[in-house]
Amino acid sequence: MTFLICRTCGVEHAARPDVCAICADERQWVPETGQAWTTLEELAAEGYTASMTPLEADLYGITSTPGAGIGQQSKLVCTADGNVLWDPIGYVDDPVVDEVRRLGPVVAIVASHPHMYGVQVEWSRRLGNVPVLVAESDVHWLARPDPVVRTWTGERELLPGLTLSQPGGHFPGSAVLHWAEGAQSKGVLLSGDTVFANPDRLSVAFMRSYPNHLPLSAAVVERVTAHLERFAFDRLYGNFAHVIASDARAVLRASADRHIAWVRGDHDDLT
Ligand SMILES: [Zn+2]
Ligand SMILES: [Zn+2]
Repeated sequence: MTFLICRTCGVEHAARPDVCAICADERQWVPETGQAWTTLEELAAEGYTASMTPLEADLYGITSTPGAGIGQQSKLVCTADGNVLWDPIGYVDDPVVDEVRRLGPVVAIVASHPHMYGVQVEWSRRLGNVPVLVAESDVHWLARPDPVVRTWTGERELLPGLTLSQPGGHFPGSAVLHWAEGAQSKGVLLSGDTVFANPDRLSVAFMRSYPNHLPLSAAVVERVTAHLERFAFDRLYGNFAHVIASDARAVLRASADRHIAWVRGDHDDLT
């Protein structure tokens, strides 16, 4: 059975609603020209290709050209016990699947939150029906239900040294993936949109909506930050190409304190 892909967010749909619920939500947007759908076959015919590039030892970024939907960069984390595909893109083709398979078995596919579902069930199909983990509290956003989907909540060690955790914030189920062996064993955080690596590469942001600029409260920013400070990490990868290359845990705290100070009104004299 074929499925549809929302042109704007790149999320797969089993049926054709009037509008993609993820894009109609206040955190996303529907184009002025209206809802548009596509298919994998159509994107391939338009010249889309997916490719994989190394980011550091045992970590790869997967993107499509042009960027499908939101245009995130998926991450493939490789460990001695298996690999995890994080924030799957809204496009997949055979050559990139072959590249992923050559690096070893993918044991789980996980999106940090519904904006990053991409064509996750399709990736699972191509990789041998790998389990797709979806946060229990966000499962109502799933538009292509499938037996490969398993819900989860709280915290889960997917593989030794690879911990999926759920600070919430951007979505109630918003997740991060902590990789203890990353960054030469100093630790890596794959942060999705839970914590957004800013283009200055020196700070991060905490928002309910990034495209529509809707901030989270001071209390939620503190909760998310305190949750993440339990982990040791030096580097943080957002779901685009932005990276906080080093000292990311300190950057997280400094950015949280800055956000909280601004929403509290500490800097109103500057406005
Ligand atoms: Zn959409
Ligand atoms: Zn998002």
